[in-house]
Amino acid sequence: MRVHPTVFALCAAAAAACGSGRVTTAAAPIAAPDSARIRSDITYLASDRLEGRRAGTPGNDSAAAYIAHRYRALGLAGLTPVSYLQPFVARPAAGPHTAPESLPTQNVVAMLAGTDSVLRNQWIVIGAHFDHLGRSTEGALDPEAGDAIRNGADDNASGTAAVMELARLFAAAPTRRSLMFVNFSAEEEGLLGSAYFVEHAPVSLDSIDAMVNFDMVGRLKNDRLIIYGVATASEFPALLDSANGGLVKIFGQGDGFGPSDQSSFYAKNVPVLHFFTDLHEDYHKATDDADKINASGEATVVGIAERVIRDLGDRPARVTFVRVPSKPTVAASSEGTDVYFGSIPDMAAGDVAGERLTGITPGSPADKAGLKAGDVVVEFGGMPVTDLQTYSQALYAHRPGDVVPVVVVRDGRRLTLTVTLGRRGG
Ligand SMILES: [Zn+2]
Repeated sequence: MRVHPTVFALCAAAAAACGSGRVTTAAAPIAAPDSARIRSDITYLASDRLEGRRAGTPGNDSAAAYIAHRYRALGLAGLTPVSYLQPFVARPAAGPHTAPESLPTQNVVAMLAGTDSVLRNQWIVIGAHFDHLGRSTEGALDPEAGDAIRNGADDNASGTAAVMELARLFAAAPTRRSLMFVNFSAEEEGLLGSAYFVEHAPVSLDSIDAMVNFDMVGRLKNDRLIIYGVATASEFPALLDSANGGLVKIFGQGDGFGPSDQSSFYAKNVPVLHFFTDLHEDYHKATDDADKINASGEATVVGIAERVIRDLGDRPARVTFVRVPSKPTVAASSEGTDVYFGSIPDMAAGDVAGERLTGITPGSPADKAGLKAGDVVVEFGGMPVTDLQTYSQALYAHRPGDVVPVVVVRDGRRLTLTVTLGRRGG
């Protein structure tokens, strides 16, 4: 189905308004991602002024206004001639310790028409959530910090800055297909912004060829880049390889489902790629601040993503969707979810047998038992651990208070440590 003519009228009007003649075919030289711009956007979005940008707060609204202002300055089209905002009310599920809430908030949406008269009816969505935890302890991994501001510099001011930088690069050199830049709110409340977007998209879902998501791309370490969804289109592995050109080590995860907004699109049979530079000790804590961001590393990630998106936007045929068989998951016990260990697992599978830990939370059961960052867990409570999946299953098969042997490999030697498991939030 073709897109409603007003969308292109809006794109053309916006282009004319900023006098750049947007709907052209001339290929402009491709500018390089600018790490200084990326850093300045993250510094603003993760500043205390925005108080951690929780959905339904003034800080979240200010972040949305900041992003919309950028799209207007780039001459991109909004959902209406005057607005880039898609308002909705987020209703996070009530937790064991929380009452139901209604959080009025908004997604931000900007569009760039393609240069090809036929292919411009197909869209590539480029997205990232811009909300974070604010002063809430719900979902925080440092409840002891109380109502401190959790600025979420990496989660996800970094992804937001990546999408804005890509908007700048493509506004200067559009692709044949049309591009949509979407900043989701209420991701931390359960992917609510992207779930709302796929039910209220300004174009038909089957005209969306692919969705590329960015969540935590600001802490590239040892050139290790994790990409989820690589098996959700048959052309993705080769496409990623050529876009990367050996710049970084890509750890591909096949499945399109994962802990971020790409899942909402994959659930609608859209091929997805999710960029992620791995968890770290500041994840979901008040210490996830802008001064820890690797801005030049993020510029490298944005450069690779720019080539991926340009390929998706210019290739003659759209990529081929593949529904990846998801691995069966063992249901966690009703108690299991409160069990607390205190490790930060490495989300990059594949290069070690077992589950490597990238960090240990100080004072946690894992810390008290003597586990260290870099340890590779190979057995948990007598259950063999080969990857993140078997690691989570083994952990959630236990309850707070259980005393379990944990076997790790450290410097090539096997060690057995005894852990008394705790209770999350306890
Ligand atoms: Zn996030």
